[in-house]
Amino acid sequence: MREQARMTGERILVVEDEENLSRALDYNLRQEGWEPVCVSLGEDALSLFKESHFDLVILDIMLPGLSGLEVCKRIRSLSDVPIILLTARSLEEDKVHGLDSGADDYMTKPFSLAELKARIRAQLRRRGYKGKLVRGEIEIDPSRLTVLKKGTPLSLSRKEFQLLLELASHPGEVLNANRLLSKIWGDSIIDEKTLQVHIRWLREKIEDDPSNPKYIKTVRGVGYKFEDQA
Ligand code: CA
Repeated sequence: MREQARMTGERILVVEDEENLSRALDYNLRQEGWEPVCVSLGEDALSLFKESHFDLVILDIMLPGLSGLEVCKRIRSLSDVPIILLTARSLEEDKVHGLDSGADDYMTKPFSLAELKARIRAQLRRRGYKGKLVRGEIEIDPSRLTVLKKGTPLSLSRKEFQLLLELASHPGEVLNANRLLSKIWGDSIIDEKTLQVHIRWLREKIEDDPSNPKYIKTVRGVGYKFEDQA
């Protein structure tokens, strides 16, 4: 398959200044089929994180320069990516600070790589890591937040992606507009107009003819339906 080359595993950002551990992590994560990117400074981790997509972050607390906890807070302000903290200290206080900073899990050094890998898998699973959805010419990858149309990547905003995923996860089913609003926007006070605008943007990206959509159909007075056909 032509796509095979792109189908590497989840991208994992590893922020660890101990070279031996970093190398061991790189090797072990690759063996699992994941795609680690290792850096030793928090500053580098942040700039990398801002410019590309990662599925999970492994973050050492004790780093030279910007501390792991600070990096954790900043990443969390940008994204809900799973974060696993590593630390040499097992103080209760550190654990609390770590979790307060938005980390999802915590490992105290020295730890077993097998356990770390199990925890990575658990985090990826919890974040709904699942296989790709193929709907006609559209291919949606929930773990990488990517959408391809006839193999060409489309650029979708986070909300557009969530909306498409929700629709495409229920092919043929009429989804109520209010249900979509609360699912995608949560408790924010958003009116149906916002949903209509996002549907329009989505159609402009995925449909051949946005004014005559074949994937996302409007069901008047109710909501929208995703047609599973090409
Ligand atoms: Ca360290």
